[in-house]
Amino acid sequence: MAKVLVVGASVGGSIAANTLRDLGVDTILLERDLNYVKPCGGAVPPRAFTDWNLPHTLIDRKVTIAVVCSPRHYTEFPVASSVPNPETDFIAMVRREKFDRYIRERAVDKGAELIEGKLERLEVTPKGVRAVYEDRRQKTHTLEVDAVIGADGAYSTVARSLGLPRLPMAIAYQERIRLPERLMEYWHERAALYLGDDVSPDLYAWVFPKYDHVAAGIGAGAGRTQAARQLLANLKHKLRDQLAGGESVKFEAHHLPMHPRKHLSYDRVALIGDAAGLVQQTSGEGIYWAMRSGEMAARAIVKHIDAPTAANLRRDYDRLWWRAYRPTYLFLAFLQRISYNSDLQREIFAHMCDDPDVQRLTFDGYLTKHIAPAPLHVQLRITAHWIGTALREWRRLRQLKPAHA
Ligand SMILES: Cc1cc2nc3c(=O)[nH]c(=O)nc-3n(C[C@H](O)[C@H](O)[C@H](O)COP(=O)(O)OP(=O)(O)OC[C@H]3O[C@@H](n4cnc5c(N)ncnc54)[C@H](O)[C@@H]3O)c2cc1C
Repeated sequence: MAKVLVVGASVGGSIAANTLRDLGVDTILLERDLNYVKPCGGAVPPRAFTDWNLPHTLIDRKVTIAVVCSPRHYTEFPVASSVPNPETDFIAMVRREKFDRYIRERAVDKGAELIEGKLERLEVTPKGVRAVYEDRRQKTHTLEVDAVIGADGAYSTVARSLGLPRLPMAIAYQERIRLPERLMEYWHERAALYLGDDVSPDLYAWVFPKYDHVAAGIGAGAGRTQAARQLLANLKHKLRDQLAGGESVKFEAHHLPMHPRKHLSYDRVALIGDAAGLVQQTSGEGIYWAMRSGEMAARAIVKHIDAPTAANLRRDYDRLWWRAYRPTYLFLAFLQRISYNSDLQREIFAHMCDDPDVQRLTFDGYLTKHIAPAPLHVQLRITAHWIGTALREWRRLRQLKPAHA
């Protein structure tokens, strides 16, 4: 009987394993460390709960107010789509320790074999794949399978075994801070983004609420790993009134891939989630995309289980993926280039968030996971607003610049 190995039992790998079992395929789920908790802000669109039938008991907080703060502008607005629906208009905040475990255990309940071990290398042959892993006692084992799903994150050993290069990476650095009840009140249903050279020169910083604490973090582009600690300290200083008296409970850091791989599939192997570079550039959002790609790759592998060649998998995974999501990736990559890299860009971005059209389009895209072009009159209205804001902010920032002697 055909057997598929999924490497990495986090969100993407566990959804892939659930799908493989639903389709009746023998599945092995290999995870390096079953106690590992992925460093993460844990913001998930509610759609994930309906798409994969996940219980709302996994949600710590439902965020209904978004805050965006540039160096000179503060705005907050409701999380609401074009057709407001209180049942689905929120951002779900989860703790990965709870969320990932639930999905992984469900895959095991469905019959996936869970092994704790670290993949060392893969050897792909015309007849199958040989996977060599090391268990917790550093004993080496070999698995023979028909196909592999690489769900092993940003530093993917599966990708390295295929000879693929490392992707360009950003660093995300986060502290979990337990707050007194009185301060937690402010964060009850708010999540905030902060823009500025002092907290994130090329991405953004955030505060996301969890059940009894907040996660405060910064994202920083390539080459800024050394600066990450200082950027986080600056964020905490900026928010001293809202975070004062908080108890630091955990520091977490991890790389985030900043560009998708050219191909997601190879002979007998499909890469998903961070291993495939499927994080969104503007937001750093990767949970939904790891889950979605896990399901899509699993379906393609099962369809071609007798001949899982690169050509077959690319036809039913890569091609379907990019047909569905290319506009989203292109639009969000463009937005990142024009929003975070200078004070002028940040001021325009924060002011544009006051625009109800922009708010609706943002949440339509985030909540449905599809970016549809807005009606022409809305596009014209937003363009006119953008030009007006850009001119005003450009003039204002010029006036603020010290004159050269
Ligand atoms: C600080 C931070 C904040 C973030 N905040 C958000 C957010 O709020 N919302 C959001 O959507 N995304 C967020 N992301 C991105 C999100 O965490 C990732 O995109 C998502 O976890 C990717 O899931 P994945 O299943 O592809 O890989 P991962 O979650 O990275 O999991 C990879 C798994 O593979 C295992 N593994 C690795 N190597 C091996 C090996 N050799 N053998 C066996 N197992 C192995 C690991 O132990 C791990 O369990 C954030 C990321 C960071 C770093």
